[in-house]
Amino acid sequence: MTTLARDAVLARIKEVVGPKGWTTDPHEVEPYLVEQRGLYRGATRMVVRPAATEEVAAVVRICAAAKLPIVPQGGNTGLVGGGVPPEDGDNIVLALQRMNRIRAIDPLNYTVTAEAGVVLADLQKAAEEAGRLFPLSLGAEGSCRIGGNLSTNAGGVGVLRYGNARDLALGLEVVLADGQVWDGLRGLRKDNTGYDLKQLFIGGEGTLGIITAACLKLFPRPREIETAFIALERIDDVMEVFSRARAASGDQLTAFELIPRIGLEFGIRHVPGILDPIARPYPFYALLEVSSSQPGSGLRAALEEFLAAAMEAGLVQDGVVAASAGQAKDLWRIREGVVEGQIPEGGSIKHDVSVPVSRVAEFVRRATAASEARLPGIRPVAFGHVGDGNIHFNLSQPPGADRAAFLARWHEFNEIVHGIAAALGGSISAEHGLGRLKRDEIARYKSPLELDLMRKMKRALDPDGIMNPGKVIPEPR
Ligand code: FAD
Ligand code: ZN
Repeated sequence: MTTLARDAVLARIKEVVGPKGWTTDPHEVEPYLVEQRGLYRGATRMVVRPAATEEVAAVVRICAAAKLPIVPQGGNTGLVGGGVPPEDGDNIVLALQRMNRIRAIDPLNYTVTAEAGVVLADLQKAAEEAGRLFPLSLGAEGSCRIGGNLSTNAGGVGVLRYGNARDLALGLEVVLADGQVWDGLRGLRKDNTGYDLKQLFIGGEGTLGIITAACLKLFPRPREIETAFIALERIDDVMEVFSRARAASGDQLTAFELIPRIGLEFGIRHVPGILDPIARPYPFYALLEVSSSQPGSGLRAALEEFLAAAMEAGLVQDGVVAASAGQAKDLWRIREGVVEGQIPEGGSIKHDVSVPVSRVAEFVRRATAASEARLPGIRPVAFGHVGDGNIHFNLSQPPGADRAAFLARWHEFNEIVHGIAAALGGSISAEHGLGRLKRDEIARYKSPLELDLMRKMKRALDPDGIMNPGKVIPEPR
């Protein structure tokens, strides 16, 4: 389409959303163009920020008629380049941040209905104020938005007990690629009336439609939370302790996170306030959290008893149980510090894999050995949500190595690590999605039939391919 014709399309969009609803100012547009690890930098004709579902629908109708691609964006914290527009710039970024109203909380139904632009931390807070818990929790919760969480089917640290974003959604409101609004905002826990359409948009990364609102599950608010940080000698011990902790505490076990020694060291070195809570170093640590909505449930005594037995059995070498909420926060800070602490250590090749929980130890051993064999001095940092079988298997460059030369080997190490995950029945993207980063690589791991079904779904819902083009679905070879 000619620039003139595009300008006319943009003018109609501006009219629909009003002066507050769009920007082309380069300074304002800049943050929408880049992905935070600096892997991608795109371009756009305009950032559009609608304030209501009807505005989104009207914008999409205009774009559909003009075949102008739309890149939906929430908090832009995604880690696979899904929300970044393509380099050719012939698109609009549709940012949902102004749609940030909580429409309703129904404490008896244990549901909240929120617009897509509500920041995750704000949603958690609103639930808490209503005496309930919204359990989705992740490092980016201060800036990611619920529409983005659903579109990536975000996981995080509460999946073990509460499931991922997909498990928390009861209903959605979606603007389809032709601008029709699907009102699927049901708050039902039982509804077997045909295909579960919302699941297509959850994890769809904006390629099938735009989520404008969601009805989400709430839970009883925990009254007691206990947090422990334990030291272990071997990865197999970590998983054995997990197995025993789960069996012993049922669904009171809310989080079980792996932290390797190197991750703690990176934190101590680079993140203010992080200290080693244990007297001498150990190869592995686990952060575990148990919680109960029942006050006076004896949770702490049970946790201490459990840990004492695990020490007796030689599985746990040492450990601390947080004595206060502040101490628990400090322990969680160690877990978050693993992420932050990797940045100053130079180039890092990231993997977000999952394997069956029963194969986690084998995965960590094999992937570590294979990476070290390929590049002596490489520093594997295997951490994360091992209670869900999800390992963030990041590879920090050898100290002093050339950063760019190391990062140029991204695909080579992907092949090694993803190959091991796949051989163990795993996935190459446990929680971050495919976006652009893993769009082509997924073609190696999904069957032609599965890819064909995905393409058919895409064609059915977005026949002109205007919804977030170039993401998720691999180009045909
Ligand atoms: P964006 O980055 O804006 O968008 C993500 C994708 O969804 C894009 O493809 C975009 O086009 C699409 N999209 C956004 N909004 C909509 C919408 N309303 N309708 C349709 N499509 C839409 N992720 C985890 O799963 N678990 C973690 O533990 C975790 N920890 C993280 C920690 C840090 C420090 C950081 C920076 C990121 C982390 N992430 C994690 C990744 C990221 O936070 C999640 O993927 C999050 O769900 C993205 O939300 P967002 O609003 O930022 O989405
Ligand atoms: Zn994670």
